[in-house]
Amino acid sequence: MENTKIGQENAEMLREVGKASYRALLEAKSGIRPGRKLIDVACDVEKYLKESGYGMAFPINLSIGTQAAHYTPSVADEKVFGEGDVIKVDFGAEKQGILGDCALTMDLSGNYQKLVEATDLALQNAISIVKSGVKVSAVGIEIGKTIRSMGFEPIKNLGGHSVEKHSLHSNIFIPNYDNKDETELEEGQVIAIEPFATDGAGFVTESDICDIFSFGQSVGVRSSDARLLLKHIESNYPSEPFAARWLVGVLESDFRLYAAIAELCRAEALVRYPTLMETSKGIVAQSEVEVLVGKDSCEVLTK
Ligand code: MN
Ligand code: MN
Repeated sequence: MENTKIGQENAEMLREVGKASYRALLEAKSGIRPGRKLIDVACDVEKYLKESGYGMAFPINLSIGTQAAHYTPSVADEKVFGEGDVIKVDFGAEKQGILGDCALTMDLSGNYQKLVEATDLALQNAISIVKSGVKVSAVGIEIGKTIRSMGFEPIKNLGGHSVEKHSLHSNIFIPNYDNKDETELEEGQVIAIEPFATDGAGFVTESDICDIFSFGQSVGVRSSDARLLLKHIESNYPSEPFAARWLVGVLESDFRLYAAIAELCRAEALVRYPTLMETSKGIVAQSEVEVLVGKDSCEVLTK
């Protein structure tokens, strides 16, 4: 049976990858300002991580406003940061299959400080109770209670997760509310805790926007573009998610690239990670760390 407690044998590497993830997150933060293109921040920070000797656990997410997660710049994305933007920056490093995952929210508007504080405080409170033997629902209760005490709503269908080698979203779901899950956390497990708060209804839904994918399976496809692209993906991104913009140059034009991606999605050769939007158009904040569950407390890895 697969050992789910990856912290038992990989503590040092987890700390190293956690630190690299957090440094990259701060690097992204320092690059964000009104008027700057999202794609420039994304390319800079992804290059920074590569040059520091790491891979990426997933493409950087720069989700704005009512987008909760999974927005990454598209090929030739022209979008720029605006003065009123509330930006969720979510990123992580990878080394030898060990994955980092952390996030913060930047409020360029200055009008959503309390919303950002709600997720930061919820995260701190959750960290303070996480240890071996704590029920998954207890973490959710702590997060939900904190967010509601500040007048906001936790997002119910998004949350944290256990992390294993080459598996960012592993089998345990860490809720942002009381989901009645009696599963107990165990020493040596690695989990990401990620409170999401909103001034909306507290649910997300998939949008039509999608620029993050992962390799699903090798299947026969009709067009030669799709066959070529799938071969490239299978050898370069066999496990961790990738961005469409990372594939620029494999085919002759961006149009043919997106057409081939669409064909591969229809054939279920690729898994899609569409941008998630708050259902009632609420503004969303997120705060995330990855921790190693210990006997009497937990250790924050992404710091
Ligand atoms: Mn994340
Ligand atoms: Mn996560």
